Order: sequence, then C-alpha cells, then structure tokens
Amino acid sequence: MTPAHLELYDTMTRSKRPFEPQEPGKVKMYACGPTVYGDPHIGNFRSFVSTDLLRRWLEYRGYDVTMIMNVTDIDDKTIRDSSKAGEPIREFTQKYTRSFLRGLDALNILRATANPRATEYIPQMITFIQALLDKSAAYIAEDGVYFDIDKYPDYGRLSGMDLTQAQTTERMAKDEYDKESVEDFALWKKSTPEELKRNENEPGLAWDSPWGKGRPGWHIECSVMTRDLLGDTLDIHAGGEDLVFPHHTNEIAQSETLTGKQFVRYWVHIRHLMINGKKMSKSLGNYVSFDEVLAKYNADAFRYFYLGTHYRRPLDYTDDAMKGAEGSTKRLEKTLGLLEAASKSPDTNIDLGQRERKLLDEVEKHRSSFEAAMDDDLDSHTALDSLHAMSGAINEYLTATPNKGVTLRAYNMYRALLDSLGLFEKRGGGTDKLTEELIKTLIDLRNQYRKEKNYKNADEVRNKLTALGVTLADNSEGTSWKIEKK
Ligand SMILES: [Zn+2]
Repeated sequence: MTPAHLELYDTMTRSKRPFEPQEPGKVKMYACGPTVYGDPHIGNFRSFVSTDLLRRWLEYRGYDVTMIMNVTDIDDKTIRDSSKAGEPIREFTQKYTRSFLRGLDALNILRATANPRATEYIPQMITFIQALLDKSAAYIAEDGVYFDIDKYPDYGRLSGMDLTQAQTTERMAKDEYDKESVEDFALWKKSTPEELKRNENEPGLAWDSPWGKGRPGWHIECSVMTRDLLGDTLDIHAGGEDLVFPHHTNEIAQSETLTGKQFVRYWVHIRHLMINGKKMSKSLGNYVSFDEVLAKYNADAFRYFYLGTHYRRPLDYTDDAMKGAEGSTKRLEKTLGLLEAASKSPDTNIDLGQRERKLLDEVEKHRSSFEAAMDDDLDSHTALDSLHAMSGAINEYLTATPNKGVTLRAYNMYRALLDSLGLFEKRGGGTDKLTEELIKTLIDLRNQYRKEKNYKNADEVRNKLTALGVTLADNSEGTSWKIEKK
C-alpha cells in the first residue's frame, strides 16, 4: 500500500494532525465499549461503527492494528439495574454482553483483538490505585479512595475546561457527573451494606482490597486495561463525545500521574446520534432499539446510514434517512452484482479499446478521490460520493459487451473500497459467524463420536449436515467443510 497520509482530528489539540503511530506500521488502539446494563440502542452504535471504520481504514492503509474494546460489567448502573431486575449481576451483565456482541456481528463490525471485562482486572486495578496512593496523588476517605485532581496540573485540558472557578475540595462518588461538579473522583468505592448483603448470594459485587471490601470506580477500569493490554502510551483512544468529561479526562489524570508518560497520542471522539433534535440516550428514554431497525432494514442500509455522515457531524435518525440509505445501498450493490456476473461470463471481448481505457481511468480517478476523502479525517460522506461515481462509470461500461480482464480489475478496486467501509460482506454464498461456529461445533461432536468408535452417531451427524447442504471432507489436517449451493 502507498504510505498513508491520513490525518485525524485530535480532541486534545483541537486540530487535524498527520497520523503517525509510535512504531511504524503498527497501531495500538483502544475504544471505550459499552456498559452492559441494557440492550444497546442505535445511538450507541454510531460510535462502534465509526470506530470500526477507523480500524478498517488503518488496515486498508497497511497498518497492523491491535484494537481493544472493553466491556464495563461493574459500575453504578449495572449494580442499580440488575437489582431492579432482580437478577444476579453476573448473569445480568453476561446477558447484555451477548446482546452487544450480537449487534456488532449484525452490523459487520470487526471483532476487537480483545474485549476485556472490567471484573477480570480487579487485582491490577488495586495495584494501580495503590501506586497512586504511594505517589500521594490519591487519598483514602470514609467511603473509598479518591484521586486528588490538584495533583495533576493539566487536569481538564482535553475538554478545555477553565478550572480557576472549580471547587476541588469536594469529592464525587458517582461514576457520571457533569462539568459543574469538577471534583476529586472515586478510584475505589467501599461497598454499601446493601451491596455487601447482595454479594453474599451473588458474588461479583464486592472484592477485598487494602481499603476494605468494595469495587473500582468506572474511570480506573480503562486506565488499567489499556496499560495491561497495550502499554503506557496508546496511539489512538476513541469513544463517544460524551466521554470527554469526566471519563477520558479522569483516565488521563490517573494514567499520566502513574507513568509520567503521554497516555494517548490521538483522541478521537464521535458525535452522538440525534433523534428529533435531541441526543438519543437510554436515560432520556428517546431511543430506538437495534432490533426495531434491523426488522425494517438490512444491515448494509443500517451501516450506510451511519457512514453517510461524517463522524463528527450531527446525524439525525429519521425513517426518511434510513430509506435514503437503503436506496443508496441498493444502487451500490446492483453494480457489485453486475460486476460479479460479468466477470463470470464467457470471454467474448478481448479488445482493450477506448471504452476500456476510459473505464480504467475513471475507476482509478474515483478511487483516488475516495482515498483522499478517507485520509481527510475519515470523510466517509465524500468517499461515498466517489464510490457512487465509480459505480456509475462501471454500470455504463457494462451496458455493452465487457472485457473480462478489465471487469476483474474494476471489480477488485470496487470490492476493496466496499470492504474498507464494511459493506456487503454477507452477500451471496457467504456464511455468517454464527453459522460457521455451529457447523464447527457439529464437526467437533462428530469427531468425538468417531474417537469413541461410535460410528452410528458420527454418521448420523454427517448425514444431517449433508441433508442441509453442508459437505464434509476428512483429511490429514482434520475435517474441512463447504456449503453446496442448491
Ligand atoms: Zn473508557
């Protein structure tokens, strides 16, 4: 790939800057994932699709990306709502973690290198907090351990806050609060008597620590998991814009105080989704569920809806916008279908005439403008315009007998751009991840039967798969499979 000239808007410097990772060719990227206390709504997915777009574009540009997205499975909200639902917190958060992952797969969002759960990192969090105490950047109060924001001189720079008026003698126990409450924040929260009681029957609410039984504050989770999995300095930290304060502001204070190094090189924040002119959010109750949209529109139209607007610009959810996205995806997909058919047709035209040269010139030109748009802080809106222009040129060429070699070249370029946007991945004979996993599970079961010399059951599994059009072939590497077209 050509060397990238990608520029990203960095919230910290409030400017677009050429992207340069610490280590050439490698990107360490972290995105704040969901707090699993309910089914995700389509507002949450604007941020996840945009993060996926960034990751895919980095990969298109030849970077080797390590991408971590955490899952917050312990915080004020998971405790509150699991109690309301009368469910053990672990089962409650596992249920919503599954529903989040299902949403990712439905929207063709590539799985992260890892999705660490906060509750898997409690010992590391305790060590981190102890180190902040040792540096006198934190102190113990009656209800937990707090970070002393006066000990971090740059506090609030990310959100551009004026701290001269701030009262920093107060403490904030809650995970979420607004700028009017710039106060010391909780690193560790001592369990309430009610939480301790719940923890007896449903572990997963309180852990032992040098400061008594309790649980971590929300902000420390990300500082600890990023450091454990990616090291002291990240190339990119992404998340929704509502995380700038207090969450990311507090992450910076904790991490930089501990390591003395720059925590993040590029801060990428995604604007939230609007509905009727207001932010879509669970707490405002004005959200549209993921399943509601998927019942009406296919995944590509859904994804296109997000991609059609630059990630830092306002985007309003309306039925008209979804219908527009659906129409646009149909046009792009039609071209893909025509290209696939043309590249499989018998070769009748071997000329490289003026029409062929014109097509290749146009395809090349639109690809360059697509790349330039994406390199300009992921301007997917303008990139899609280039893709439609490319699709128009291809459609026109395919109205007369096409040359197969030229068709294949056009197909490869077109497909590569679609892949960078994550569109039409489940088309045609492709199988989704769940189907693949189910087939593999059945193959494992059959092989287990064979090992036990239970050939009757082994053959039955195989026959049932064959009846479904899945054929198996045993070889030295194990068993391979394919789906026969019916
Ligand atoms: Zn986070």
